[in-house]
Amino acid sequence: MAVKINENYLLLKSSYIFAEIAHRVDKYQNEHPDADVIRMGIGDVTRPLPKAVVNEFKNAVDEMGQADTFRGYGPEQGYDFLIEEIIKNDYAPRGIQLDNDEVFISDGAKCDTGNIQEIFGLDNVIAITDPVYPVYVETNIMAGRGGPMGEDGKYQGLVYLPCTEENDLVPALPQEDVDLIYLCFPNNPTGTALTKEQLAKWVNYARENDAIILFDAAYEAYIREDNIPHSIYEIEGAKEVAIEFRSFSKNAGFTGTRCAYTVVPKELMGYDGEGNPQALNPLWNRRQTTKFNGVSYPIQVAAKAVYSPEGQKEIKESIDYYMKNAEIIRESLTNIGLKIYGGVNSPYIWVKTPNGMDSWEFFDTLLDKAHVVGTPGVGFGPSGEGYFRLTAFNTLENTKEAMSRISKLSF
Ligand code: PLP
Repeated sequence: MAVKINENYLLLKSSYIFAEIAHRVDKYQNEHPDADVIRMGIGDVTRPLPKAVVNEFKNAVDEMGQADTFRGYGPEQGYDFLIEEIIKNDYAPRGIQLDNDEVFISDGAKCDTGNIQEIFGLDNVIAITDPVYPVYVETNIMAGRGGPMGEDGKYQGLVYLPCTEENDLVPALPQEDVDLIYLCFPNNPTGTALTKEQLAKWVNYARENDAIILFDAAYEAYIREDNIPHSIYEIEGAKEVAIEFRSFSKNAGFTGTRCAYTVVPKELMGYDGEGNPQALNPLWNRRQTTKFNGVSYPIQVAAKAVYSPEGQKEIKESIDYYMKNAEIIRESLTNIGLKIYGGVNSPYIWVKTPNGMDSWEFFDTLLDKAHVVGTPGVGFGPSGEGYFRLTAFNTLENTKEAMSRISKLSF
């Protein structure tokens, strides 16, 4: 008998959006070798690690090379020296009390937002905003929760919460009965953020409907406005209904270094088959201790240095740099009459394509006429059709040049 595969993998859309973009750009560059293509589609940071981080990182590597300071396996949940800094800096000043064992250090919010579904039953109904960071969707498909994709580009077993011009990209509460709700604010890809009042509606909904919110705050550091919560736990009662994901990738340039964390409050409960409440914190702890062996010591030391005064100063400079780019993109595109969202509390600018162009038509037009690459919105879900994502992660010079080229186009 031949080996059987997990057939859920066959339900996944074959081409991941960034592979298709790379393919089209390569083809274009082969045909137009002189075109100076500027990539504004990247979701990766470009500024280097802060010096304060690099210095501590190097010191920790040296420690690993000395017999008396060498460390082997660390705690799977992360070292207390980092967890304590996280609680002291990211939560306590906002009035949020957490115990060390409610914070789990990991090597990425991608893995955590992808793996979290393992601790939940397969028959839970999953709600996602549309457009969405694809990891939430695809990990549930792999697990068997999504079913096949329909003609409308939606996996039939998932509940989609459209975010479009009609609702100003703010998802409405679900009409259906849903169990797990993935929310990401500030949002990738739309760049929008929720105010405290808007997020409180979701927390209340979850409390009233026994749902759980999986809150991805990977872009928290980009929040500029006062009334935008940095953590879902700023909303009263959220600890009973929400898991929060954070990352050092986008605030401190750790995309290639890898460090993140997830908060699973002890109050948070799911239910077993008999209807008895079961705390989720020990389940996630069990999952992590079984399948994960912790983030390397030097990287956790490096992450701790993010919280040093020098580290904080440097990361603020980098974020200010990206947000200056975001402002330039916003201004340039608004000036030529394009409708845009985001870029105020986030490094993403979500553009409504002009003249009813679809996302890929707009992609091809910008590539051909301005040699600028962005990300077609439809790649993030069916409601992303007719939209396009630009990011503020390129250099100031390239951002200005790209905007100057786009500004010369007429739509
Ligand atoms: N969550 C969102 C919404 C993201 O956009 C990204 C990266 O682009 C991640 C998580 C991944 O973060 P990490 O680098 O910590 O895996």
